[in-house]
Amino acid sequence: MSEIDNQPSCPVCSRTRLEVGLCLICEKRICQMLDDLYDFWDAAHGQLQPARGAGGRSSEMSIGINVAALSFIGGHDILRLLHSWEAWIRQERKLTPPAFIPKPESLAKEIANAIDFAKAHLLWSVNQHPAQSALALGWK
Ligand SMILES: [Zn+2]
Repeated sequence: MSEIDNQPSCPVCSRTRLEVGLCLICEKRICQMLDDLYDFWDAAHGQLQPARGAGGRSSEMSIGINVAALSFIGGHDILRLLHSWEAWIRQERKLTPPAFIPKPESLAKEIANAIDFAKAHLLWSVNQHPAQSALALGWK
């Protein structure tokens, strides 16, 4: 904490603020990164479809099945990452352990839930690791 003059500052970029919390710029960037995870995953579905003539979204589709996209659509890399954050947050904040949370009906919902959870605990998370958060946002 660098509250020399008792002025609150953003834990990530150290900009001074009127109240304790993340500055809007950092909050927006982190939420955008989390949303991007979902969007990238969602967009990968399109990469699996064979080309359907002119007017398709991309010529990349013409190769047919894209193995990298297939693996990404499995969602395991994204979920492993998101669930590792969630497990850590739940443990540290003494919340219901992941094993007691009902599994959502679809992978899309599972990823969306994990992203919502990460957003809900954003301020707490960055306060645990302000230096890493700054690094992730490219501030340092
Ligand atoms: Zn900030």
